[in-house]
Amino acid sequence: MAVGQGGKKYLGTVDLGGSKILSVIAEGDGRRLGEDRRTTSAEEGPEVVLERIGVSLETALANAGVQRGDLAAVGICSPGPCDIDAGVISSAPNLPDWRDVPICRYLEERLGVRACLENDANAAAVGEHVYGAGRGCRHLIYITVSTGIGGGLIIDGRLYRGATGVAGEIGHMTVEPDGPVCGCGNRGCLEAFGSGTAIAARGEELVAQGGSPLLVRLAQEQGGLTAAIVGQAAEAGDSASRDIIQRAGYYLGVGLASYVNIFNPEVIIIGGGLAKMGELLLGPARAEMEARAMPEALKAVQLKPAELGDYVGVMGMVALLREATRA
Ligand SMILES: [Zn+2]
Repeated sequence: MAVGQGGKKYLGTVDLGGSKILSVIAEGDGRRLGEDRRTTSAEEGPEVVLERIGVSLETALANAGVQRGDLAAVGICSPGPCDIDAGVISSAPNLPDWRDVPICRYLEERLGVRACLENDANAAAVGEHVYGAGRGCRHLIYITVSTGIGGGLIIDGRLYRGATGVAGEIGHMTVEPDGPVCGCGNRGCLEAFGSGTAIAARGEELVAQGGSPLLVRLAQEQGGLTAAIVGQAAEAGDSASRDIIQRAGYYLGVGLASYVNIFNPEVIIIGGGLAKMGELLLGPARAEMEARAMPEALKAVQLKPAELGDYVGVMGMVALLREATRA
C-alpha cells in the first residue's frame, strides 16, 4: 500500500521505553519488514540516547533492506507527557533528566523525513484499535499495567488526547482519597495500589514480616523481588502473595468501574507486563468492576487482554503515520 508522496511507502517507528528501545520498519498495511532492539541506558542522558535511537532506526532499516530515502515518515512513542505539535518530549518518568527534548527535530535532521511524536499509551490504544484486540470497535479503552499504569482512549473511532494530551491517565485516578502519595504528587492514585511497583512494595513488606517463605526463596533465587515474582508465588499457591495480587486487581476494578460509567466503552484492553498474570489479576478486577459499574454501561463492555505484545506502541505509530502521511 502506498503512503506518502513520491512512492515512498515505508514507515519507521520507534517505541522509546525506560529500559529498551524498539525500532520497526513497516509498510503502510502494517507488515513489519525489519526491526532493532537495544537497551535505552537512560542514565547516559538525552544526547546519548537520541544518538542511540538514530542508530537503532538505521539498523532496523538495514535489517529491513530499506533505503533511508524510501522512508515516508518516522514516528516515535515515548512515556510521559509530550507536546506532539512541537515534537518535544516534555518529561518522562523513567528517563531521568529528560526535559523538553526536541526529538522530532533531531530525527528529521538525521533522517531527512518528517517525524511524529505520541505518548506511548495513546499509541498503544491506537495499535490495539487498528491491528489488535479492538479491531472493529468504536469505543475502546486501553490500559497498560506494568511498572506504572497508563491508558489511552478511543472515542467514536478516534484517539482522544484531551486539551493538553494527557487524557486517559487512569493510573492517576484517585481511588483512596487518603491513600499513599503517588509519583505524580497526588494521594491515593490507582497506580499507588495496582501497579507493578505497588505489588513489589507489598511483596517487600510481606517478606520483611517473614510472611511468606516461598516468596523469600523465589526472591533469593531470582536476585530481587518484582511483581512477576509475587505473581509466581501466588500461582504456586502462596495465599499471602495471592492476596497482594487480588488487592491490586480490586483497585484496578474500582478504577475500571468509573471508566465504564464515564466512557461507556465496548472493550477495555489490558496490556503491559502485568497482563501476563491473566485471571489472577484480571479476575478480581472484573469482579469489582461488575460490582460497581452501572448495569446499562456494563452490558456493552468486554475486558480483554492485549494482542500485540511488545509491538503495541510501534503498530500504533504505523497507524498514526498512515493517517499523518495521507495527503
Ligand atoms: Zn498519581
